[in-house]
Amino acid sequence: MTTHLVWFRNDLRITDNRALHAACEDPQARVIAIFIATPEQWKQHEMAPRQATFIYQHLQALQHSLAERGIALHYHQCDDFADSVSWLKDFCASEKVDALFYNKQYEINERQRDLALEKAVSDTVMCHAFDDSLLLPPGSVTTGNDEMYKVYTPFRRAFLARLTESDSRSLPAPQARENVEKPVMHKLMPFDYPLAAIGDDFAIGEEAARNQLRSFCREQVQDYLEQRDLPAIDGTSSLSPYLAIGVLSPRQCLNRLRTECPDVLEKTDGGAFGWLNELVWREFYRHLIVAWPKLCKHQPFVEWTDSVRWRDAPDDLQAWKNGKTGYPIVDAAMRQLNSTGWMHNRLRMIVASFLVKDLLINWREGERYFMSQLLDGDLAANNGGWQWGASTGTDAAPYFRIFNPTTQGERFDKAGRFIKAWLPELADVPERDIHQPHRWAEKQHRVLDYPLPVIDHARARKDTLAAFEAAKKRS
Ligand code: FAD
Repeated sequence: MTTHLVWFRNDLRITDNRALHAACEDPQARVIAIFIATPEQWKQHEMAPRQATFIYQHLQALQHSLAERGIALHYHQCDDFADSVSWLKDFCASEKVDALFYNKQYEINERQRDLALEKAVSDTVMCHAFDDSLLLPPGSVTTGNDEMYKVYTPFRRAFLARLTESDSRSLPAPQARENVEKPVMHKLMPFDYPLAAIGDDFAIGEEAARNQLRSFCREQVQDYLEQRDLPAIDGTSSLSPYLAIGVLSPRQCLNRLRTECPDVLEKTDGGAFGWLNELVWREFYRHLIVAWPKLCKHQPFVEWTDSVRWRDAPDDLQAWKNGKTGYPIVDAAMRQLNSTGWMHNRLRMIVASFLVKDLLINWREGERYFMSQLLDGDLAANNGGWQWGASTGTDAAPYFRIFNPTTQGERFDKAGRFIKAWLPELADVPERDIHQPHRWAEKQHRVLDYPLPVIDHARARKDTLAAFEAAKKRS
């Protein structure tokens, strides 16, 4: 009997999982599965304890679903990738594995690990790697010169043209293995990593994720364009934590969207197309890290921006992290992040702009802090978002475009509903003054238990423009 091993990584689901599906195709094969945790590496990259907890809880659910199908999920903890390779090689030998199935990860270290593994086991094990976490594989959407696009809009045009020709059907969960007893389910040892509570906003399990996807596409996607920038409204799907660890696949998102909105590709001004556009941004950033692996090493795409002289301002950085900058929309957003591990896209753009363009603090500090808090932490999307906001990336905001945190608040949280939900100390401030509460307090002869702005925006703007211009001249 042949033995097939499925290596789960950030694809923690049984439905529409290409590696799992392929491993189960031969009904005679014995199929087993493995997940390898690398907490030492997670510590180095400051992965959010919330995300580790989310992974752990989904592993438990996955173990259960696999066991129902007669597949045992093994679990191991390794120090680093080199250690994973040598341990996996021994595991393949002890379990007499004939073929290994896994879905590709696109970050540079992960790609190097997979190459090392294939080499290490090549004598005895056949490796089958799948493009699963994207709608189209990196390198398949290129310019006429066969290069990756540096600008999003032409990428999207080419991407959608290819998408219509590609097979993006979702695969069903595998059937239960025949003549196989349900494996004994050993309790999964908790990771050697700090764990953190996750609120009720993100239920555990692929079924919960699929239900959320269905109801979003049925009931909300039509209004997506009007609502997606308003943080006081749940106008976006909140599916990013599931997509980040692969509880949901992008094909499942696309197919559900097409089921509910069959004209999504024709009606390009509607909410459904607007939402599809965001899924394409996700693809763009992943394609970029494969074309330019330096992005995975936190290098700026635009090299001269590395000469910007950032401020060393630990107190301001701490105020930003704690949501105590004196700018209500920034502070409410950061407190939402610290408390839930999630933040609206518009707010991510505002707080990123504030850190980099108002406080003139290195964008890598923000990138790292986000990863340490986010439930949906994803290297490609996070790096892409930060480099966009910092004007250091491909197709980024030009460096002279600097958000005004007060007017952004006025525009996207006019009545301050979101702000009041996260800043109880501003509860008494009337709507019209919520974005500049100290002005109101002064008139009222009141003292607010809320910090004064850590920096004057107009002055900060000038300093940042000067710092970028000087860096450009130097390079
Ligand atoms: P929806 O609006 O419902 O979009 C659907 C899906 O599309 C999302 O779940 C996500 O997978 C993808 N998506 C949406 N917007 C983007 C985008 N701009 N870039 C890439 N993918 C996108 N997203 C992450 O998943 N992980 C991150 O670590 C991350 N860090 C970010 C950091 C910054 C500074 C910025 C500006 C954006 C970041 N984003 C990140 C992108 C975006 O903010 C989130 O994906 C989005 O807010 C998640 O909410 P949602 O699931 O309701 O999104």
